[in-house]
Amino acid sequence: MIPLAKPVIGPREEELVLEVLRSGQLSLGPRVPAFEEAFAARLGVAHACAVSSGTTGLHLSLRAVGVSEADEVVTSPFSFVASANSVLFERARPVFADIDPVTLNLDPDAARAAVTERTTALLPVHIFGFPADLPAFESFGLPIVEDACEALGAFHADGKAVGGRGHPAVFGFYANKQITTGEGGMVTLGDAAMKERIDSERNQGRAPDMGWLDHDRLGFNYRLSDIACALGLAQLERLDEMLAGRARVARWYAEALASIEGLGLPVAELAGDRRGWFVYVVQLPKDGPARDDVVVALRERGIQSKPYLPAIHLMSFYRERFGHREGEFPVCEDVAARSIALPFFPALTEGQVAEVAQGLKAVVEDP
Ligand SMILES: *Cc1c(COP(=O)(O)O)cnc(C)c1O
Repeated sequence: MIPLAKPVIGPREEELVLEVLRSGQLSLGPRVPAFEEAFAARLGVAHACAVSSGTTGLHLSLRAVGVSEADEVVTSPFSFVASANSVLFERARPVFADIDPVTLNLDPDAARAAVTERTTALLPVHIFGFPADLPAFESFGLPIVEDACEALGAFHADGKAVGGRGHPAVFGFYANKQITTGEGGMVTLGDAAMKERIDSERNQGRAPDMGWLDHDRLGFNYRLSDIACALGLAQLERLDEMLAGRARVARWYAEALASIEGLGLPVAELAGDRRGWFVYVVQLPKDGPARDDVVVALRERGIQSKPYLPAIHLMSFYRERFGHREGEFPVCEDVAARSIALPFFPALTEGQVAEVAQGLKAVVEDP
């Protein structure tokens, strides 16, 4: 079976993790600031806060920009469910707007039309590692939290790294992401006071200069361990090599899949915006076999694939809670119904890419 994803873990990861295990300090130790500083430096941003997951990073970032009960946050329905869920953690309401059919990111015009007097923040998602149109969203004059969980290595057309603009931007380190710590996340941001708040709230509301068990606000346990941060440091050392590996696999796919008529392929670059490759997601031809049948037929050929991603507003919880129905966001719904993720990781070989492409071609053109 050719798997969907596979982390790259080697002797350097083992070495740095072992060092932490032998040091006896497994949490709240020196690897946390070391990982934060290395990550911030990499993105060219002032601060970074290591957290226990991308989801907890989104939660703390929304709190940090002031989102609270009954507020509205405009966001994309074409995302992993965590981006919308994090708004609900604060009893605020995720307000969806449709996406751009090429970038698959929140469409700025649709987002503007969704803004009301209750909107207190925007939550654009850099979906599949392609930069969302931050210059357009910045012109709204509202606080922004970026879901950059899929976008490590991406760049905006103005040369800034995704996550390097100063808004709280959240990265995720689950095992299929560009770098992994098993579970984990990072918030990058430009504002020192906001960093202090996030650092405190991830650690039970403890103020940085206060002694043990003195807490001056509500907090959570959203800490990342030193074991995880050591893993992250080792992964950062080889980030360029791993990103280059993903980009190479993407080029092979683009060539190998070009002959399948009607298949929608992801763009690497558009008007200067550059993708940080995370997954390889294609949209099946409109008049071809159903997506779920394609997934089954590929599995029979030894190829793992996955519907990716379903529209958030049509998930049962969101339908029931907010009364969402088909037809609200037609671009998102069309894309979501035809999207599948193909095997994609740095160690994938050209031969395996050819095998996936042949399999997909056979299944789509001769079901
Ligand atoms: C992975 C991901 C998250 C959440 O990350 P976790 O670390 O699993 O909590 C959030 N948003 C998007 C778009 C993601 O891909």
